[in-house]
Amino acid sequence: MARYSPSIQNLIAQLSSLPGIGGKSAQRLAFHILAMDDKDAEALTSAITAARQSTKRCTCCQNFTDSDPCPICSDPLRDKTTILVVESPRDVSTFERAHEYKGLYHVLHGVFNPMKSMSISDTTIPDLIKRLADHPEVTEVIVATNQTAEGNATALYLSRMVGPSGIKVSRLASGLPMGSDIEYADDLTLLSALKGRVMLSGENNEA
Ligand SMILES: [Zn+2]
Repeated sequence: MARYSPSIQNLIAQLSSLPGIGGKSAQRLAFHILAMDDKDAEALTSAITAARQSTKRCTCCQNFTDSDPCPICSDPLRDKTTILVVESPRDVSTFERAHEYKGLYHVLHGVFNPMKSMSISDTTIPDLIKRLADHPEVTEVIVATNQTAEGNATALYLSRMVGPSGIKVSRLASGLPMGSDIEYADDLTLLSALKGRVMLSGENNEA
């Protein structure tokens, strides 16, 4: 391992803590940043600062937004009776890109994962339960968590929590490969998973 000055080592350590960035990529990025001219480096740091300062969570759907409520929650043309529950803000962009889903969202910012001691309160599930109580117009909750053990456990938990209230709880069809992330699904796969969703509770027949 090459020895670098403490400030470069620190930069590499910070960059390698980002998701998907290994040690080699972190070193490449660090030296790229150091080689940038002052103007470009300043633009990068101020973009990070500005995004962090102006981005907040929508108090309704918990997605990241510059304005609260977010543009989707405040759009009068969206169907207010359906809420699609996703793990991360990236999943919202994935569904929006497909231009098919017209309802609202709820971003969990994580999933129920007892192995990593992620409990329900580490997600926005409590906000969702409160939101459903405050909005009786909601008739269906579509759980679009990833097809992983944690995603499935979260879906099951939601169906148990929400089902008794009479709101339909459905799960995306299993067209998505097991263990895969929603964010990597192509539009067509996503749409057929949405159309073929299966009811977990609230109704016996499929949607
Ligand atoms: Zn919102």
